This record gives sequence, C-alpha cells and structure tokens, in this order.
Amino acid sequence: MKAKIHEKFKALYGEGGRVFASAGRINLIGEHTDYNGGYVFPGAIDKGLMAEIKLNGTDKVRAYSLDYNEAAEFGLREEDAPKQAWARYIFGVCRETIKRGGKVEGFDTVFAGDVPLGAGLSSSAALESTFAFALNELFHNGIDKFELAKIGQSTEHNYCGVKCGIMDQFASIFGKEGSLIRLNCKTLEHKYFPFNPKGYKLVLVDSCVKHELASSAYNKRRESCENAAAHIRKNHPDVEFLSDAKRVWLEEVRAEIPEEDFLRAEYVIGEVQRVLDVCDALERGDYETVGEMMYQTHFGLSRLYEVSCEELDFLNKLARKMDVTGSRVMGGGFGGCTINLVKDELYKPFLDAVNKEFTAKFGHAPKIYDVVVSDGARELK
Ligand code: ADP
Ligand code: MG
Repeated sequence: MKAKIHEKFKALYGEGGRVFASAGRINLIGEHTDYNGGYVFPGAIDKGLMAEIKLNGTDKVRAYSLDYNEAAEFGLREEDAPKQAWARYIFGVCRETIKRGGKVEGFDTVFAGDVPLGAGLSSSAALESTFAFALNELFHNGIDKFELAKIGQSTEHNYCGVKCGIMDQFASIFGKEGSLIRLNCKTLEHKYFPFNPKGYKLVLVDSCVKHELASSAYNKRRESCENAAAHIRKNHPDVEFLSDAKRVWLEEVRAEIPEEDFLRAEYVIGEVQRVLDVCDALERGDYETVGEMMYQTHFGLSRLYEVSCEELDFLNKLARKMDVTGSRVMGGGFGGCTINLVKDELYKPFLDAVNKEFTAKFGHAPKIYDVVVSDGARELK
C-alpha cells in the first residue's frame, strides 16, 4: 500500500512527503457498556489507513483518495467544507484541530486504506486518527493523545452526522501491538492489558446483514438502562450510571420496573463484570476463560439485551458446536460481525463450515477478516 500511495503522490505532488498511518479496531468485550458508564476493551488492528502528506505553502488542502480514485480540494475555513463524504472527514479533522488552537495550513495528501468500510471495524476512525495524528506532528501542535481522539469524535459529530462515542477513535489513536486497552467510559481512565493469543487466531465473520431496527432499538435500550439506574439510585444515591450498580441492588428494584428493563440492566451489570474478569484472565494468559466470557456476552446480548439476530445467533451456535474458544456478536447488534477466538487447528475447519452452512441457510456468503492486534496512529519512517 505504501508503494502505491507513494507512486501516486510522486505523480501529483513530487517527492518529500511524510507517511502516517492509523488503524481500525476491534472490541474484545464490553458491549453497550459505554453509555452506561462502564468499560469497553478495544484494540487497534492490522488493517488501517495510510497517508503521505506534505505541506504545500498555500491555504488549501489537496487530497487524493486512492480507493475512490477521486481528488478533492478545499480551504480551511468553516464555509469551505468539501462535498465528498470521504473528504469531509479530513476537513473535519482540520477544523477540529483549529478549534482547539492548533495550527493547520495547506497540505497535499494521497491516502488509502484496507479496513472494510461499514463492517463495524471503524474505517472512519482510522481515517480521522491518521490525519489528527499527522497534523499534530506536521504543525508541532502538541495536542495530547486523548484530545486527538476527541478531534476524531467531534469530526463525526460535527461534519459527518454520526453521534458516536469515543471508543473507536480512542482505540485507533492509543492502540499498541499486543495490547488491548480497557477504557472506563465514566472516568476516561485507561489501562493496557497484554493480548498475545499464541496458538489462536482472531477472526471476524461478517454476516453482511444490517437490520433496520438498530437506531430505534438502541434508544429504547438506553431508556431501559436509565430507568433501571434511576430506580436503583433511590436506594443507592451514588449510582450515577447503571455500571455503578451491584447485581443485588438491581434485585431490590425488580418489582418496581418493567421486566424488560430488568433484563437489559442484568445484561449491563454482568457485562461490566465480564470485562474485569477478562482482564484478569489475560494477565494469567488464560484464553479459554476469555473465550467463555465471550460466549456469555453473546448469550446476554441475544437473550437479555435482545440485540442479536438470526444470522448472528446462527454463527455463534456454529462456533460453539465446533468448539471454537470464544465467539460473540461485536458492535451494536442487529447485524454486522461476530468476533471469534479460534485455535489455529480449528481455523480452517471452522471457516469451511461457516462458509458452507451460513451460505446454505441465508443464501449469501459471509465475509471473513483475520485480525491481529497492532499499533494505532504513528508515523512510518
Ligand atoms: P465504518 O464502520 O467502517 O467506520 P463509516 O460509515 O463510519 O463505516 O465510515 C465509512 C466512511 O469513511 C466511508 O464511506 C468513507 O467516506 C470514509 N472512509 C473510510 N475509509 C476510507 C478510505 N480508505 N478511503 C476513503 N474514504 C474512507
Ligand atoms: Mg465509522
């Protein structure tokens, strides 16, 4: 990818560019916990985005997307927003940097990526993080890493119409090879844990379905969680978010809240604990326990939180049947990928079975992405 980018860069703008990269992300465990003030546990992956960049001495950005074979040119004032969706991510990062007091002047860039778009691996965060990191280096702005992640998040909010949390940009900026990062979504404290699953592979199976339920269901889940937390708070005033509650405190209010809210809350409280259990297991190198927790999360998302779907449950059941170490739906649900922790020797038989049985049942093949936990935003020298 680097050579292809450079070839185009040289043809358009000549020599002398610097190369920056960032990554997509996975989340091993900790789903629907972010808006409940709980933990998420993401890491950057070996699929990402790369950009060659050089200052051009003007007040314009000239960008070329190799994947779309398309050029865009735009200024740096608020009213200069480009039309192309992909260019708005870069424009947004420039604007958000400027809003934070950073310097940004005109530059030329060619970029390309290999994160599948819209598959739940956050290609958009890879794009934002690459440019947020690069501009900070090129203009010596000295913006800290957390703020760089927020530049990406605000870009989504203010220039791309996506009201996302901080996890994706956080993972893509802070990611490190061989490490997952536990982020406390309430305090924003983070801690690295080793993730070197020797003898296992991490495999994403993309069901390639997206059920339209997602956004209204998401709002309903949030309401249920807030309602459960509000009832618990009457007995335990320190409970700010549902993630602060103990399981027994939820039991105390069981009769007061709809059964549905109880189940949603039961899932969230369990999931927060599972993240902690997975972190302990990783410190012991115990990947079998990690896998078991992934199955428990899937069960919770499917039966208690009810955000799975037929395709994802099918993939999960097949993984269980074949003795795959861990498997669960990743992301908000109602479609997208399962994330699977698979012993090397089971890798081929599992994927053969997935391809054959999923296709036979649903009439289209799933997509498979192998991922390795890798470095996030960086300069390539
Ligand atoms: P995802 O879940 O992958 O983040 P999004 O819809 O949030 O999906 O972001 C995908 C969008 O990000 C694309 O439509 C495009 O505008 C931009 N994008 C991501 N990767 C690239 C790339 N390699 N080249 C150009 N644009 C990209
Ligand atoms: Mg995105």
